Amino acid sequence: MPSPRYFLRHFVPFTGYPYTGAPSACNLCGSHESVTVAETDRRLKTLRSIACAECGLIRTDPMPTPAELAEYYATAYRADYQLAFAGGPPRAHLNRSAREATFRAGLLAPKLVPGARVLDFGCGSGEFLAAARARGCEAIGVEPGRDYAAYARKQHGVEVLDDAEDGRFPAGHFDVISTHHVLEHLRDPADVMERLARWLKPDGVLYAAVPNMAATGKPPHERFHFAHVHGFVRDTLDLTARRAGMVPDTAYWREDTTVVYRKTDAPVGRIAAPGLAQRLSEELKPMPAGAYLASGAWIWPMVRRNAKAVRDTFVSK
Ligand SMILES: [Zn+2]
Repeated sequence: MPSPRYFLRHFVPFTGYPYTGAPSACNLCGSHESVTVAETDRRLKTLRSIACAECGLIRTDPMPTPAELAEYYATAYRADYQLAFAGGPPRAHLNRSAREATFRAGLLAPKLVPGARVLDFGCGSGEFLAAARARGCEAIGVEPGRDYAAYARKQHGVEVLDDAEDGRFPAGHFDVISTHHVLEHLRDPADVMERLARWLKPDGVLYAAVPNMAATGKPPHERFHFAHVHGFVRDTLDLTARRAGMVPDTAYWREDTTVVYRKTDAPVGRIAAPGLAQRLSEELKPMPAGAYLASGAWIWPMVRRNAKAVRDTFVSK
């Protein structure tokens, strides 16, 4: 059981998180050079984010250790994002997840044919697996969040693994792999992307979606979040796929950092994005707190967030 103090330290603004972490090399290109892009996160707590000077991938610095992340997920994350979990995932989450799964299944429809093998890596409460199975696919999920995994098994009757090491599936096994808002939570997203690519058939497709750190319409600090130890933009998501031997499949609609990739034999080349880190440090430059309050820029996100919560709670799927 974490101490109340550990718990509180996650919520008091203008203080740091209760973790020590360790400096890390860029998981995408291996470089140690970086540019600082933020010192604060969305709840105005102290949290340093850096962009790799070589490839532009954003990461938390120092990087939380696996044990520190596990402790965070077991305590503060749950209280914060899965409040009222006792009776299963909150209705707001399920409604949102069902809408998203319908969209994802529609996008991948040409590949979701009877008999196709589908993996949802980070399947949450299992709505996409259920949608794939409804189309006749053999669908399996991986989900480390125990409550979500249990819910997916019980509610949708789908097979969900707690984790999947490299040897868990043979190379070239799946027709479709999807990973929705998962990579930003991982300490080793580029390595995981390579593992997913290995499990994919030569003509398979990989759907990957992450938040875009450079998306417009959000005050910069709102993009940073302790649970997101990596931050992507279009270029770095594509580079992560490129390192794993994949390129965007132009047969599929792409929205920003929601992309369907296919395999390619073209040589990988240098993993770099000259100038990207500098550009991100400019784009993500925080507004001083006083100016931010005075600008009123916080009003619209607050209204929108509340409206979304109301909609997710009362509009059933
Ligand atoms: Zn890098």
